[in-house]
Amino acid sequence: MAYQPESTKKTKDQAPPPKDIWFHQLSWVVLILIFAYSWSNMRSEPSLKLAYSEFKSELQKDNIEAIRIREERISGTFRTPYIPANQLKSSQLGQSYARFYTILPPIDDEYLMKAIESHQISFEAESSKPSFWLNLLAAMIPWVLLIVFFGYTSHVFRHSMNGKGMFSFSKSKAKHYSADNIKERFKDVAGLDNAKLDLKEVIEFLSHPEKYRKLGARIPKGILMMGPPGCGKTLLAKATAGEAGVPFFSVTGSEFIEMYVGVGASRVRDMFQSARKQSPALIFIDEIDSIGRVRGTGLGGGHDEREQTLNQILAEMDGFNSDEAVVVLAATNRPDTLDPALLRPGRFDRKLVLELPQNKARLEILSVHTREKPLDKDVDLQNIAESTVGLSGADLANLVNEAALHAARENKASIDQADFDFARDKVALGSESGEILTEPERKRIAYHECGHAILALLLPEVDPLKKISIIPRGRALGITEQAPQQDRHNFTAKFLKNHLCILLGGRCAEQLIFNELSSGAADDIKRANELARRMAAEWGMSTALSVMNMQQEETHPFLGKEMSLNRHFSEHYAKKLDDEVMKLLKEAEEKACETLKANRDKLERLASELLNQETLNRAQIDALFSK
Ligand code: ATP
Repeated sequence: MAYQPESTKKTKDQAPPPKDIWFHQLSWVVLILIFAYSWSNMRSEPSLKLAYSEFKSELQKDNIEAIRIREERISGTFRTPYIPANQLKSSQLGQSYARFYTILPPIDDEYLMKAIESHQISFEAESSKPSFWLNLLAAMIPWVLLIVFFGYTSHVFRHSMNGKGMFSFSKSKAKHYSADNIKERFKDVAGLDNAKLDLKEVIEFLSHPEKYRKLGARIPKGILMMGPPGCGKTLLAKATAGEAGVPFFSVTGSEFIEMYVGVGASRVRDMFQSARKQSPALIFIDEIDSIGRVRGTGLGGGHDEREQTLNQILAEMDGFNSDEAVVVLAATNRPDTLDPALLRPGRFDRKLVLELPQNKARLEILSVHTREKPLDKDVDLQNIAESTVGLSGADLANLVNEAALHAARENKASIDQADFDFARDKVALGSESGEILTEPERKRIAYHECGHAILALLLPEVDPLKKISIIPRGRALGITEQAPQQDRHNFTAKFLKNHLCILLGGRCAEQLIFNELSSGAADDIKRANELARRMAAEWGMSTALSVMNMQQEETHPFLGKEMSLNRHFSEHYAKKLDDEVMKLLKEAEEKACETLKANRDKLERLASELLNQETLNRAQIDALFSK
């Protein structure tokens, strides 16, 4: 129960690419050439542009030493450095030039040749046609540019493809672990005993394939692991390869799919080819539902990329011959969406269901993850396992890590129970949000939580009260936590009716103390409605509907999500169902309000203590009432 504010509603085969040394060197050469050219231009003496008349005047003065003519351009050198007339006029000393150039006007100047000869000027003419080498250079420039461009794009591409080069689209992205590199063994996988038992046969086959071959035994080619997220599917697959001592290829379904059609299928081909070469080997395809959905349901009709990829997987699995000891393990948490062709005999015909860990398995997972960590003597792993109903293996691994981080932050030498308590609250209830509440808000939240808590203390056959708090966490402003002593598999009508009372207790307490309701009970009301509807529609717990099944939503076995079903009952029964839901809710509310009214003194004592302490655990609550 939570009081909620209204507003809150790189692996081995991916090693870094080899440096494109030639490309780097080419870039440097080009840069150096450009630099050298600019430098030599800067260093060469400046050339003065002369008017043609000035040039002729200097010619007459016998101040021209040599000239070179190329088309209409005449360039040359002065006998004595020349200072332009406009600079001579200025007070500052003008710059003198040794070189010049001028442009020949488009008229025949007979005087020019005579003057050149009479002044005995060294004279040279240049052909306007480019030389052979210049021609060759000009022809090569586009090719050089093309090669540089191609090299550059390939270089950029290689980087973006993790060093796999331009034409490696079709290469599989599967992570490859050689047998020596797999550290995981079955002892690292806690619980999941049935699954391990089933996988022992696969391990035996992969370790001694010839024994099975000789007897002509057919071993399953594919095994499908189904279970909620974080329950250890990937870990179990890797540990299986570790136990068998065979190479492990791990890939996620979505990694096959690229934006180009046909890439997925060729990646599948590539992965299976590599596995065959290293046979015996184990392939693990995680999230197979992303490619293995029922065909013909995706966008793009029956021929989209996903289906081609799936077809290729099926073809590869059919194509294993008896010499190839390759087993494919696949994992999903949406088995309901898989194409039936995947589940046919000869493909993924064995199924392993991995459930969330129960008490014993939780204890084992906690032990596995605390194995190499210094634990204080006061740590009670059994107690932590009992108070973490519903958490997955990944959650528990995270909890242990959070406890270690907390201990490190507090500079402790070992992890103690307080660190685990902190981590448990963080993982199970969410981190403290740091929300600052006003005094009236705190008071209302305290009474609301105590309303839930008093009912959890007084009503029979309910999950025991564990903790109450008015420190905002996650999206909740206050929390009442009940913890079942053991994992429950079945709920009695009495338990559920009392649970409805507890859910509505917060709202009743607010009405009783403040004579006014607030929006903080929104989540409680939603949950109470969902529960009452399931009681009446699915579990036959209403007298009027009796055994009529009126289920309209199905809870997904692994994801906990609701999925709509088609309505299969009349309007008459729909109305009856609404009435029955309302009746269950009304009865629960009445009982909750009456119980709280009769125990108002307890409610007030608990609320005032909660306002003082902010968080009360079960021992503190018991101590308060035993006084
Ligand atoms: P998903 O469906 O999200 O891919 P998964 O079922 O493959 O999840 P894993 O990736 O195998 O889950 O588990 C994540 C981590 O949780 C593991 O690396 C491990 O540390 C821990 N873990 C989960 N289950 C177990 C277990 N049974 N024993 C020990 N550790 C576990």
